Amino acid sequence: MLNVALFGYGRAGKIHYKNIMESPNLILKYLIEIQDISKEIDDSVNLINYNDKTLINNVFSDKKLDAIIITTPTKNHCELIMLALENNKHVFVEKPITENKEEIVTCFDLAENKNLVLFVGYNRRYDKTIQNIKERIFNNEIGTVNYALTISRDYPYPQESFLKISGGLFHDCATHDIDYMNWILNDKPISVYVSVPDNNDNTDFNYEHATINLKYSCGTMVVMNLSRISSSYDQRCEFYGSSGEIINNEFNQDMKLSFPDRYKNAFKTELLNFVNCIKTSSPALVKKEDCLNNLIIANACEESVKKNKKITIKYGDGYRNYNNVSKNVYENYLIARTYQTVNFVNTMHKKYSNLDTKMEIWDILEDLNDLVDVSDPDVSHPNLYHAIQTAESIKKDGLPDWMQLIGLIHDLGKIMYLKGDDKTGTGKKKQWAMVGDTFIVGCKLSDNLIFPEFNEKNLDTINEKYNSKYGMYEKGCGLDNVLCSWGHDEYLYKILTSSKNPNTIPEEGLYMTRFHSLYAYHDKKDYFYFQSEKDKKMFYWLKKFNSYDLYSKCDDIIDLNESKQYYMNLIKKYFTNTYLYI
Ligand code: FE
Ligand code: FE
Repeated sequence: MLNVALFGYGRAGKIHYKNIMESPNLILKYLIEIQDISKEIDDSVNLINYNDKTLINNVFSDKKLDAIIITTPTKNHCELIMLALENNKHVFVEKPITENKEEIVTCFDLAENKNLVLFVGYNRRYDKTIQNIKERIFNNEIGTVNYALTISRDYPYPQESFLKISGGLFHDCATHDIDYMNWILNDKPISVYVSVPDNNDNTDFNYEHATINLKYSCGTMVVMNLSRISSSYDQRCEFYGSSGEIINNEFNQDMKLSFPDRYKNAFKTELLNFVNCIKTSSPALVKKEDCLNNLIIANACEESVKKNKKITIKYGDGYRNYNNVSKNVYENYLIARTYQTVNFVNTMHKKYSNLDTKMEIWDILEDLNDLVDVSDPDVSHPNLYHAIQTAESIKKDGLPDWMQLIGLIHDLGKIMYLKGDDKTGTGKKKQWAMVGDTFIVGCKLSDNLIFPEFNEKNLDTINEKYNSKYGMYEKGCGLDNVLCSWGHDEYLYKILTSSKNPNTIPEEGLYMTRFHSLYAYHDKKDYFYFQSEKDKKMFYWLKKFNSYDLYSKCDDIIDLNESKQYYMNLIKKYFTNTYLYI
């Protein structure tokens, strides 16, 4: 038997109170609440007023108390969790754990250090219907999920007092749908666009309706319909896969259900799970990363409402943060690191050397509008915006017009996908030989690559010719003479230096295109021992270009027609023709 204390007797507190009292594994020793609820509570429970700090201290220092269950307003969660963990109590806390990233990290880290269970109550994960859907999708019953839809409508309409402390529609309601959708799809969204009713001057995000459009890293489109208004608690979801569908659309408006009824069993299973985690010292289903992601996504929903535009969801701080990246980014790097070998790069050079397709430069740029770089944790917008944004910011700083042109065309090598295929990582879905940071093959892989732990997977590491510091090269041989992993940089360089595509782009510009993804070199200053005199001169320009490539990644949409004329003139200035052989 475990002794527990329950903090809070509101919407969720009442459900847990009942379940604890009925549980054969739990004894409710204390109930801490601000209101007088003595008439509703069993005599066996010590009722304590939330404002009585001395008595509350006694609760935490009670050595016979095993766990605390927190259902207070969110703003009190962190303090209570920390107090409980410091006093060696396991913790169950209602979602959301807190609305602050640092607090989430601090709470989970302390629980881990102390070997205690920190269990966050996302009850839908314990709902049989949702568990069943997860299992069916995991077993590939409907193939790849292309589209999913959720409907979540609350009933009855919450009380004013609850709305005031609820955290708004996204943190209070949508967080459930976001959590279980990420869990089912085993992925997370890269962008979000939210629409809410017009002319709403509300400042606390307590909208009565909202539609959330999410795009997941693996391409799944998800639409979430949220509402506070309904005639009965309404929870539906539909999944459309490449080889089947799962439709869960049970709804009966006459039932007049509320959430404690709809998720009655889920709440019980959830509590039982908490007990099991404690007894078997096993980790809770909801992890620190899940809580962080749910918070970041709910925040991005609010940002989308405020700015009325699509938001690229940033999971880390700043650009190029590869901690906690989406599944696609991770996989892209893993496969690239494994299969980009000397042999592979040579094959790709051959494969892409006959530049036999003629295409207008502007058409290439527009065509790339259809392509989203799956390796980039910072962008979910098509390439053309990034191209124009890069060029515009170079222009704004008064840099030479050839560099503006490079800004415009530097990623044009991604047009490779027209001739490529997913099998060799040059398709629309699999891009591991087209995008992402490059590295030099034929020598020891740099420890400064993203995910250096993948280095040992590279198929060349067992080859003695290739695994020493200089490998198949010599010191000072010059970067012109090394082989980089195959990608859009090298392909564009090939195009620009072909006699089929005459142009007067200066050497510095060609250098920028060829090495702009070689981050280990220009960002981490690796491979300097290969530098020739030319490389030393060019390095400044490569570095300069990178700042524009990186910091022009934003969600602002630019009017392309406005800038087209200017850039067409630049194209005509530096290229003999307005088309390229690719
Ligand atoms: Fe690029
Ligand atoms: Fe770029």
